[in-house]
Amino acid sequence: MPDLTAGGPEGRTARTALALREATAAGRWALLDHPLLALPVAGTPAFLEPDAVVVHPDGTWTVVEIKSFPVIDGAADPAKVGAAARQAAVYVLALEELAARTADGDPARVRHEILLVCPKDFANVPAAGLVDVRKPRATTRRQLARLARVEDIAAELPAGTTFDLCLADDGKTAGRPAEELAAAVEAVGAAYAPECLAACELAFHCRARARAEGAVAALGRGLRGELGGLTTVESVLAAALGPEPAEEEAGVPDPTVAALRRAAALRAEALAPPLTGIEAACR
Ligand code: SF4
Repeated sequence: MPDLTAGGPEGRTARTALALREATAAGRWALLDHPLLALPVAGTPAFLEPDAVVVHPDGTWTVVEIKSFPVIDGAADPAKVGAAARQAAVYVLALEELAARTADGDPARVRHEILLVCPKDFANVPAAGLVDVRKPRATTRRQLARLARVEDIAAELPAGTTFDLCLADDGKTAGRPAEELAAAVEAVGAAYAPECLAACELAFHCRARARAEGAVAALGRGLRGELGGLTTVESVLAAALGPEPAEEEAGVPDPTVAALRRAAALRAEALAPPLTGIEAACR
């Protein structure tokens, strides 16, 4: 177990890289306890700390993830295992990035099966199994490649935009007017979703903005995905309640619009006043 102690995140990532390189070159088992890895996200390094990384004598590396959810009778909650796999997939990507830059520049040395360690049957005994993370790794890789770079986002902003609360360059003189800060926040696009409420201090601001714009994303990512190109509440209502297109203009019906129309018709039927006995008999 190499010593990974160093000052600051940059020092710890450099120490981790050195330890991995030395253990790989030595061709022996090594266990790196809480190494620190860096992964470029939108052009900015994000620091990640797996529970452990194992170096095999053949020079390959395995991520080890330790979780507190139990393995009962040999099976764990699939949702929790999936979440652990997605988390470990990010570590795999960071290790591949590191392997490409160090060692012999071979990212293939990072194994795509991670070792998941959990308590066995609620006891204080560990159980471990290999989990294939190829799928979440590929998904995360695609998502990271699609992210806009921070420099590109910054280039779109009006000159002089700042989120600094301090007016002076000394970083101590507080007092930037609230209106100026609000304008700076407004200048940046946002993709609000209800999940933001649990994770971001700007959630109430972004929610109010999304609601004011009538964005369906404010109702949840799942719904947003199902509505396809209909991104505002106004367009959804128009699709559900608007007049039927003329037969010659109809073309291939949009399945989302057809589902919305069907839902609107069912709702209208359910909320219609009850039929009188004669009306019911006529039907
Ligand atoms: S609440 Fe935070 S994470 Fe969500 S869209 Fe706004 S700034 Fe982004």
